[in-house]
Amino acid sequence: MREYRDRMVQEIAACTCDRCSQRMSPDDDQGEWYEKVSLDWRGGFGSVFGDGAHLSIDLCQQCLRDTLGSWLRVDPPSATDNVIEALKGVVSRPDVRVTVDQMNPLLFGEQDESRGTLLLATRLAKIVAQAIAVFREQDKAIRWLVMPHKQFAGRTALEMAKTEDDARLVEEALVRIDELYG
Ligand SMILES: [Zn+2]
Repeated sequence: MREYRDRMVQEIAACTCDRCSQRMSPDDDQGEWYEKVSLDWRGGFGSVFGDGAHLSIDLCQQCLRDTLGSWLRVDPPSATDNVIEALKGVVSRPDVRVTVDQMNPLLFGEQDESRGTLLLATRLAKIVAQAIAVFREQDKAIRWLVMPHKQFAGRTALEMAKTEDDARLVEEALVRIDELYG
């Protein structure tokens, strides 16, 4: 039997770029906030900065490109990442937890509010939310959503969302997974 008490947890609320002084916070601009780069390490003996020196830097994405850009290895997204790209607008980021209320079907695709796109976006949002509920972890859910499945004739769950009938098959598959492992 365990007893619990509340604990205060500190989290980073904002960060200023050490080069251009741009202040970044998740409330101001999520895009800038998640693309910033923070380095923090301690030099060992023989460090050019001094033995055991503590080193840190916070850079906005523009300053990262303008300073280290010529040496950065930038690889194009893999096929899986491309499908995650398709989720843009439905979930803000694949590694951040969202509830179905936070998903915005209107933002899906090319901001096309035509009925077809809206229906697709709504189906996608529903399937994503259901998968997150079943797998309990968003990255696990997304991995399942972007993986080709035998039961869907080699298609991914997201591809299945294109039609109402196929989307129902995905929902049924998720219910079965939930019953088996839930
Ligand atoms: Zn900067």
